Amino acid sequence: MHELSLAQGLVEQLEQAASMQNALRIDRIVLVIGKYSGVERDAFEFAFPFAAEGTLAENAVLEIEELPVEVECCQCKAVSHPEPTFLLCRACGSNEVKLMGGREFLVRSIELEIP
Ligand SMILES: [Zn+2]
Repeated sequence: MHELSLAQGLVEQLEQAASMQNALRIDRIVLVIGKYSGVERDAFEFAFPFAAEGTLAENAVLEIEELPVEVECCQCKAVSHPEPTFLLCRACGSNEVKLMGGREFLVRSIELEIP
């Protein structure tokens, strides 16, 4: 499962960050996932506890913020939020659009328990 290896990679990075601060554990993680990132939110939430088991992130609260797909139209310049499966300008229907947002997969913040 794609999301499990992503979650494992994320936990590894978080553990490195946490151990640099001598943290006892990771309490909370806020993740930003764009709807065009290819990461399924539900699958990621399901996979995360398996990846976190036995690590500093084991009991961490995982919060996910989803960002919409955002495109700018090359024809009419409108900025709109189409479905990720169908990148079209919602104002004029053109498929000549530039992807402005929605590919995000990043950590917005983490809270650590530091002695
Ligand atoms: Zn347009």
